[in-house]
Parts: sequence; structure tokens; C-alpha cells
Amino acid sequence: MLSDNYAWLLQCSKTGATALVDPPEVEPALAAIAAHGGRLDKILLTHHHGDHVAGVDGVRAHFPKALVIGAAADAHRLPKLDRAVAEGDVVELGDSSGVVIDTPGHTVGHIAYYFADGGVLLAGDTLFSLGCGRLLEGTAADMFASLAKFAKLPGETLVCCGHEYTQSNARFAVHADPGNAALAAFARGVDEKRAQGLATVPSRLADEMMCNPFLRAPDVATLATLREQKNKF
Ligand code: ZN
Ligand code: FE
Repeated sequence: MLSDNYAWLLQCSKTGATALVDPPEVEPALAAIAAHGGRLDKILLTHHHGDHVAGVDGVRAHFPKALVIGAAADAHRLPKLDRAVAEGDVVELGDSSGVVIDTPGHTVGHIAYYFADGGVLLAGDTLFSLGCGRLLEGTAADMFASLAKFAKLPGETLVCCGHEYTQSNARFAVHADPGNAALAAFARGVDEKRAQGLATVPSRLADEMMCNPFLRAPDVATLATLREQKNKF
């Protein structure tokens, strides 16, 4: 949606229960819902930025029973929440359930959702393929701790992030880690996908662990330096 945002639709394969994540626009979200059963149970929000929430009220107007869920810490600046959540809270979706992970850094109230069934991480603007979110509100220490939580998830987890930033992230990543053969190969695959107009996400967490310099940073100082270099790259 917009130019490079991703909203996500999650569906419980047993019950058809459907959740929409971070919609910045209304019409494309409604079209995607219609194409996948026409049902919407929940809207999950990762953070308050307009490019993740601007479509919420318009979508809710079409599905008044859909519950809007977001961070309790940011309830004052998110669209009206039906449920405010924090670290460890469980979000049900049909027979499936996800857990809320507090991931400050990009914003102080940013959260992610991990659905072990299906192996899906809704990472918002915390972790991108080959990158991480800008530190607009939180510190490098916040982001380091947030990424460390993701690093503990299973390698086959699919990272569903908020933006198609992978190709520009890849240029910086190769610059920052020129000897990384896995990264070089991943970056070539990204270029091929983009040349064909294809999405580069979701990516596998195991690949991010091998290739993403922000996820590989061994300490806060390294992450802080990488983030500053990327801002100027
Ligand atoms: Zn954002
Ligand atoms: Fe964003």
C-alpha cells in the first residue's frame, strides 16, 4: 500500500478467522479481505505512524465488529482501541493465537506479534529484511534488546515487516559486511525479485540472522554505529 508499505492479512486455516495488520489505506485492504473470504475479525497495529494506521477507521466502518488491537503504551495516539495489549499478552485468531512482544526503538510503544502456528512474525518497523527501523524515539539499546527477542524465535519464522526497503537495505548491508557470502547471494536474489517487480518479503528469520547486519550486531555500540552510518548512506 502507499508506495512501499505492507499491510498483512492473517487467516486461521481451520476457522477462516481473519486479521488485518497495519493498514495505511482502506480500498486495497477491503479488496484483499474480499478476495480472501470477506471476513474480518481483528485489526492488529504495531505502532502509531500514519503509514500503519491511516486505514483503520475506514476499514472498521465496513467491519464494525472487528476488534482493533494495539499497544497499551500508545493508546493515546493510536486509533481507538478495543483492546490494549503489552508484552506477553495473547491475541486469539480462530484456533490460532499470537503473543505480543514489546519492541521499542523505532517508537517507544512499538509492539510485534508472533504467531507460532504458521510461524509468522509481524515485525512492523522494528525489523526489515536486511535492515531495522530508524531510531525515531527509542535508543540503540532499546532496538538491540528488541532485535534480541526476535533472534530467539525459530529460524523458519517468516518475518512480515512494514516496508519494501530490502533493496536499499541490501546496498548498505553489503557495504557494511563486504565479506559475507550469504549476504551477497541474498542481495543478488533481492535484485532479481525487484527486477521482476516481485515482493522480497516475507523473509526467513534464519536468512536475516545470517545476512542482516543489524540483527548480527554483537553489542549496542555496534548497532548504534551501523544505524548512524545507514542514516547517512
Ligand atoms: Zn513507522
Ligand atoms: Fe512505516
